[in-house]
Amino acid sequence: MKYVSTRGAAPVLTFEEAMLTGLARDGGLYVPETIPELSADDIRAMSGASYEEIAFKVMRPFVGDTFTDEEFKGCITRAYAGFGHTTRAPLVQLAPNHFLMELFHGPTLAFKDFAMQLIGQMFELALKRSGKRVTIVGATSGDTGSAAIEAFRGLDAVDVFILYPHGRVSEVQRRQMTTPTESNVHAIAMDGDFDDCQARLKDMFNDFEFRDGVGLAGVNSINWARVLAQVVYYFSTAVSLGAPDRKVSFTVPTGNFGDIFAGFIAKQMGLPIERLIIATNQNDILHRCMETAAYTKSGVKPSISPSMDIEVSSNFERALFFAHDQDGTAIKGLMDDLAANGSFTISGNAMGALQQHYDSGMLDEAGTAAMITRALNETGEVLCPHSAIGVAVAENHIGDTPMITLATAHPAKFPDAVEAATGERPSLPPRMADLFEREERVTRAPNDLKALQDIVRERLSS
Ligand SMILES: *Cc1c(COP(=O)(O)O)cnc(C)c1O
Repeated sequence: MKYVSTRGAAPVLTFEEAMLTGLARDGGLYVPETIPELSADDIRAMSGASYEEIAFKVMRPFVGDTFTDEEFKGCITRAYAGFGHTTRAPLVQLAPNHFLMELFHGPTLAFKDFAMQLIGQMFELALKRSGKRVTIVGATSGDTGSAAIEAFRGLDAVDVFILYPHGRVSEVQRRQMTTPTESNVHAIAMDGDFDDCQARLKDMFNDFEFRDGVGLAGVNSINWARVLAQVVYYFSTAVSLGAPDRKVSFTVPTGNFGDIFAGFIAKQMGLPIERLIIATNQNDILHRCMETAAYTKSGVKPSISPSMDIEVSSNFERALFFAHDQDGTAIKGLMDDLAANGSFTISGNAMGALQQHYDSGMLDEAGTAAMITRALNETGEVLCPHSAIGVAVAENHIGDTPMITLATAHPAKFPDAVEAATGERPSLPPRMADLFEREERVTRAPNDLKALQDIVRERLSS
């Protein structure tokens, strides 16, 4: 299996290389050259299998000869052993034809754990074999950073630096990043918003001297291995509702487009998915783009669903690549427009291709709070703000096909918003109950490439 860049001008890589690299050297994102398909019988055979068994079947063709079957099975088993639910991604029924897939039973209480725990295992195995060291730098709107730190803390061959927007993550998210005591963990509170963090991260990758000098590796959702790990729960859930003999649709609370793009890959692999519905908060650039074909930045407004406060939705580039028949030159043109003018316009053909798979909807702040209240009253389910946006948007798209909404985080990760809506403060699971007593360790940094690079170099040498 070979991986190519969405901008068509970077070296073709193996799975291992794409995983350890992150961003392609032409600024693009790696995608598989061809997407392997599973037959209806292959999918039917997943019925009754464990999450780990399904994970192996779904991901194996993408991994190529990077790992043996036994090695890869070991990674999968260790990755999900620490989850607080035996089925890993349990399904709850909310209403006739509406289901909630709970993706928040991992160690840091958000769906990011599904990919990050597996990546941690795969990095460790690959680096042990090669004797190399890497420096992981990630940008986060809150959940990726905590999941990455949890996955990489204490590993010998890895230093992990996480940039988060100062003052713009929830206290639980912040503490999950600042309280680990391992010396290979470095939390950096940067001035600016998430898009600024992500932009400086991309700058670091595009500074090849720095990139090669510190052995930079990326684990943001630009990393193909992250997307791949997320394809699995689309299969496990659809199969539990009757796939391949019954179609399903998914609604996905969306920011960087990694999670919903994994649903697109599942569909390309042969899973009968009818619609993929993009749910956004008031930062609705993706929803506006689906309605008007114009992707136009208008400034990020902080919300009660901070993990979706994003305007430069990285993985949308992957969706655009497939909507343009894998034409890297076309994608480079769009991304150059975005960099130069803060906007690009999608052609009629490409819009048609997107609309074949995706719908969209948006929910504002008041609507989010109201949905949290109503879900508790009507279903007994306590939703985090992101999941509430998914549920409300899904309600507008429910027809004859079962709808599955992804619950992306545990309500206790966003206790202020949940308490304001329900009157009750959701409590953290017992294993995290002392989070507020632990000591915090964080470095403040300006929104400045050179200053950030100095911090990384200095920490690595000390
Ligand atoms: C990361 C995140 C999202 C957005 O997921 P993308 O893959 O970036 O679209 C939504 N909800 C929560 C809780 C998240 O942590």
